[in-house]
Amino acid sequence: MSEAHVPDSALSMDSIVVAAGRTHGPGDPVNPPIVPTSIYLPGGAHAYAREHNPTWGALEDAIGAMETATCTAFASGIAAISAILDLVPHGGIVVAPTHPYSGTGARLAELEAGGSIVVRRVAMDDPVAIAEATPGAALVWLESPTNPLLEVCDISAACDAAHAAGALVAVDNTFATVFGQHALNLGADICMQSATKYIGGHSDLLLGVATTRSHELAQQLHTRRIMMGATPGVLEAWLALRGLRTMALRVRRCNESAHELAKRLETHPQVERVLYPLLPSHPQHALAAKHMPMGGAVVSFIVRGNATTAQAACDRVELITQATSLGGVETTMERRARHALEHPDTPESLVRLSVGIEDVDDLWNDLNQALTG
Ligand SMILES: *Cc1c(COP(=O)(O)O)cnc(C)c1O
Repeated sequence: MSEAHVPDSALSMDSIVVAAGRTHGPGDPVNPPIVPTSIYLPGGAHAYAREHNPTWGALEDAIGAMETATCTAFASGIAAISAILDLVPHGGIVVAPTHPYSGTGARLAELEAGGSIVVRRVAMDDPVAIAEATPGAALVWLESPTNPLLEVCDISAACDAAHAAGALVAVDNTFATVFGQHALNLGADICMQSATKYIGGHSDLLLGVATTRSHELAQQLHTRRIMMGATPGVLEAWLALRGLRTMALRVRRCNESAHELAKRLETHPQVERVLYPLLPSHPQHALAAKHMPMGGAVVSFIVRGNATTAQAACDRVELITQATSLGGVETTMERRARHALEHPDTPESLVRLSVGIEDVDDLWNDLNQALTG
């Protein structure tokens, strides 16, 4: 089969997600095939599929083209996170969010308890604290907006501080996606996403991706994937690429609906507070408006009353699915504090809503009836 075609980076990302990761030779299939194999015949670049598989290759080409970077795909988002944290030398310092994604928090705590790394925890919405924590660090791990408190980080300021101190910066860009926040263009060395969420987009796979413009970091991530055996399944990679084709449409639609629902929720008598980066009531509204062309499709809101009231609202949804996770075509919501791993700073009655692509009025009617009871 001919070489993968890398589209001209002058194209918009809306076109790249459709056009990239395909081959363009005479008679080639329009879509890359699913190649289930563990071994290759001699004479090619690879012998064993822990190193490479053409189905992941197509997904990596497409995501790499979006960001003008090299993409490494992993078996899950947490596998990508673990690989990046593995780049920190033994005993190295990691600056990390006070309120990270729960899996990241658990992994950091595990590495810290075992003495492999030292963690300095800082609030993502406090650029001064981030800059002050950075000298001596090997890695600055940023997440923005955070899950589920939706704190917004000044990624460019944090990158400037980190680079002045010689630290690497990795951003967990899962919530905003590259459409909503271009972490590499804002200065990050590595952009990580759980492709389980908006890239896959259909709640039917687990996969993670890490992109970088540094040849050396790309090599290191590739080696970590081999050493950890964190290789993606070929069917998952194919489904993720299939999801990527419609990502521009889906992300735009669910971001617009999320913004609209956030505004309506703010006026609902049963809602005490809404957290959404593009609402004027958000503490980093101006920064979010500058960094994020879209506000994301996750809205967190605090239900008036207590955990029982909030749980009852979640139990009453009909169109919306009460489930964890986010980024699917279907709208999901849950009371985050029902999870044992959730950070104690998450209010008991906080509900996290992941807005999908359904009709926005249908979603509003469902939320309204669930909240009103
Ligand atoms: C889901 C998620 C992850 C972990 O990804 P998996 O694919 O579930 O392993 C990491 N970061 C954020 C922000 C997430 O939402």
